[in-house]
Formats: sequence, C-alpha cells, structure tokens
Amino acid sequence: MKKIAVYPGSFDPITNGHVDIIKRGLGVFDELIVLIAYNPNKKTLFSVEERVEMIQEVIRDFKNVRVDSFDGLLVDYAKVAGANVILRGLRALSDFEYEFQLALINRRLNRDVETIFLMTGYKWFYTSSTIINEAASLGGSVKGLVPEIVNQKLVEKYSSKRGIV
Ligand code: ADP
Repeated sequence: MKKIAVYPGSFDPITNGHVDIIKRGLGVFDELIVLIAYNPNKKTLFSVEERVEMIQEVIRDFKNVRVDSFDGLLVDYAKVAGANVILRGLRALSDFEYEFQLALINRRLNRDVETIFLMTGYKWFYTSSTIINEAASLGGSVKGLVPEIVNQKLVEKYSSKRGIV
C-alpha cells in the first residue's frame, strides 16, 4: 500500500524548518501533501492563496509532493486523500504538549490515521513563523531562515505596511 502523508499547518509563511520536514518526510513516505489547514475566522499575515503560491514555488523541483488547503477536520481530509499518516515536526519541548493533544484527538477521531513526528534539524530549533513574522515586521532580516521567495514577500508585505514603498 502506498504511504501517503499529510503535513498540515498554517504555514504563515513556510519557513526553512518546514522545508526540512518536507524533504525528510519525502525520504520516508511515497507521497506528501502539504496542507494549509486554515480557519476562515483566524487572522493571518498571508492569505491562503498567497501561502499556496509560496509553497508551490518552494516545492517546484521536488517530486511526490503537492500543496492543498482545507478548512475542515484534518482526519476527514486524510480519508478523502487516501492518506494514512499525519506528519508533524517537533521543535522544543514547548511543542510537545500541544502536539500530543492534537495527535490524541486525531487518533480518537480516526484510528486508521497515525501521527508521526520528525525532530527538527538543529538549525531550525528556534525557527517559527510567528518569530519570523515578528522580526520581519520590525525590519529585521530573516534571510536564511525562510526560502528566498518568502523573504521577498515578507519584505514587500512589511515595507508596504510600514509605508516604506
Ligand atoms: P501550527 O500553525 O499548527 O503551529 P505551523 O504551520 O507553525 O503549524 O507548523 C506546522 C508543523 O510544522 C507543526 O508540526 C510544527 O511543529 C512544525 N514546524 C514548524 N516549524 C518547525 C521547525 N522550525 N522545525 C520543525 N518543525 C517545525
């Protein structure tokens, strides 16, 4: 049976920590779906369309991976997509409790789907979309922590917000 994994998250925006998990996930699974799991009522920096576009660009040269978006229950998406694994990344201990809760509820909702974790690469231990956004919003450089296309988009977004361009 084909091992298809869904890698869900907000990806607001995608960082090099996420890219690391995608690349390593591709070494383990036959197919990977990067899923922008969104809540239409939650405020994000980038729209779903912008996030899809950035991820598409980042994974352009990778095989067996695609991007999608969904605003429903993750296990429902997994079932329709024929995925038997939910892939998540773990950073510091602080990720653990939330991830544990999420894995347990998803397992309760559908016992056929397993959550599998990959530990972050040490370079990306402190990389989160929130921290990246905060630094970029104050004009700090996040080059090297996000794919170049994302770096450009952040610069554009925040320069226009701060009225620089
Ligand atoms: P959420 O909005 O649920 O926090 P994110 O979009 O931030 O999700 O991240 C999606 C997944 O990627 C989560 O499992 C998260 O722990 C993981 N992740 C985020 N940043 C990193 C990183 N730097 N290294 C490894 N995994 C990460």
